[in-house]
Amino acid sequence: MIEIETTNEDGERAKSDVPMAYVKDLPKFVTGLLNNYHDSGQLTWHSQHIPEDEIWLKIGGDHGGGSLKLSLQIANLSRPNSKHNTVIFNIFEAKDTRKNLEIALSPYCEQFKQLNGQTWHGKHLRIFLFGDYDFLSKVYGISGAAAKFPCLWCHASKFQIQKDPESREYVEGRTLKTLKRDHRQFVEKGQGKIENAGAYHNAIHQPLFPVHINRVCPPYLHILLGVVKKHHVMLERECHELDLLIGGHALMTEEESPDAEFGEYILRSREIQKREKKEKKLSTLLEEMEDNTPLAHLELQENKLQETLKKLRKNISRKTQENKLKERKGPVTSNLDKLLNSHKIVPQAYHARSFVGNHCKKYLEPQVYEDLCRSITTIACKMTKHDGTLLRAYWIRDVYEELNRKFSVVHKLISHDKPIGREEIPTIQKKIKEYMSFYRRKFPSSSVTPKMHFLEDHVCDWINTWGFGLGLHGEQGGEQVHATINLLKRRVWGVKSDKMKYEIMLKEHHMQISPCVQSVLPVPTKRVKNS
Ligand SMILES: [Zn+2]
Repeated sequence: MIEIETTNEDGERAKSDVPMAYVKDLPKFVTGLLNNYHDSGQLTWHSQHIPEDEIWLKIGGDHGGGSLKLSLQIANLSRPNSKHNTVIFNIFEAKDTRKNLEIALSPYCEQFKQLNGQTWHGKHLRIFLFGDYDFLSKVYGISGAAAKFPCLWCHASKFQIQKDPESREYVEGRTLKTLKRDHRQFVEKGQGKIENAGAYHNAIHQPLFPVHINRVCPPYLHILLGVVKKHHVMLERECHELDLLIGGHALMTEEESPDAEFGEYILRSREIQKREKKEKKLSTLLEEMEDNTPLAHLELQENKLQETLKKLRKNISRKTQENKLKERKGPVTSNLDKLLNSHKIVPQAYHARSFVGNHCKKYLEPQVYEDLCRSITTIACKMTKHDGTLLRAYWIRDVYEELNRKFSVVHKLISHDKPIGREEIPTIQKKIKEYMSFYRRKFPSSSVTPKMHFLEDHVCDWINTWGFGLGLHGEQGGEQVHATINLLKRRVWGVKSDKMKYEIMLKEHHMQISPCVQSVLPVPTKRVKNS
């Protein structure tokens, strides 16, 4: 059991003991794992794209299912990023706060250094780090994506990343040395106060991982999730504005709406409009009254009219409030949800409507984004004949189709785990530039997010240095281990000691991913649906 700091019901800091199970001697464990992979003939150097005298070892972490898990992967396997090749070496029933990461990672600091120089059968081990951006930021001690200096790989500020890289002033890259220097100054000159962090490149803690930043893989899975979500949220907003325009124009005409629910909204809007006209008439009448009414009657009539006006204004205000077109309820926007559903893409209600990785990949298939974009003009043409509104609908269709097309080209080039030759990099750089320039040109008031910056400034450097798509070094496998542990949890529910539970789960997990066990397991076959 490990003591951690928590907050109690009153928000006060408290200490509590939580279970942790871990591999004590990581270098020995890795050697054993490599021996097993070697004996079962699974090691590969990906046609010499990993130098033949090197073994690439990935270390990473993620929080999920109530526990923080540190895991490792050997990249010298045919499917290195599969969950079957992701080995948990520390599981800790705690949140992924910086403090808890210190508890989990600190004992390994020396072991990581040892592993980094270790040889196995004359081959050098090279360590990489993977994880989502929040994890990577905490491990290297920076404030994270919302900070003034949000990037782990360079000192570009959140203002500088808005500009095209070519029109930006020189930006220094981060290294372990600059992180330590900035943190020292933050403590000495900035007195360690968070409000001063921006003056020291947001280096608020010491790095916990003793490995150079150029071995930290840009988290492509999360870049993908962030970009696709941003595209879709922007598209929904545009469509909502379009629905409001359609509604506004319908008020000017007497045409009936073909959409029943939207038709009700229009009818209610027309009622409000009638009341507004009446209110205008009465206001004018009140202004004219002084000139036309004999003094003896003026006060009484004026009071009566003012009372009627007051009631009317109150009524208009209430009705307008009640009749607001809710987001995603207009005909164009609500149809987007129906189409996503028909393509079996489900926004995750409990994760701010993000899509999971596989749904993002599906979203970037032409049949999906074309279907979504083209539905906008189809529905708009049914709902209105107003030229300006239809022109807006065509603009949204064309721009979002192109935006998704440009990003899907980039996605296909970089998301895989296959080797990428140096000669392919100029094409990748060009496609990323085309996507980002299009985004900046068409959406000048939308910001470039840190994830877009990693894509624009650091992905090609990574591929150029290591020669693989981001799927090889990325965080996918580390995200999938939670489901494995959740299944194991059910098996140990009868065990009384929490500590014991975690130890059994870790041992069982090691048994399951053991190369010897894997080699005798039947290959799962895909179920074929009966037609
Ligand atoms: Zn950067």
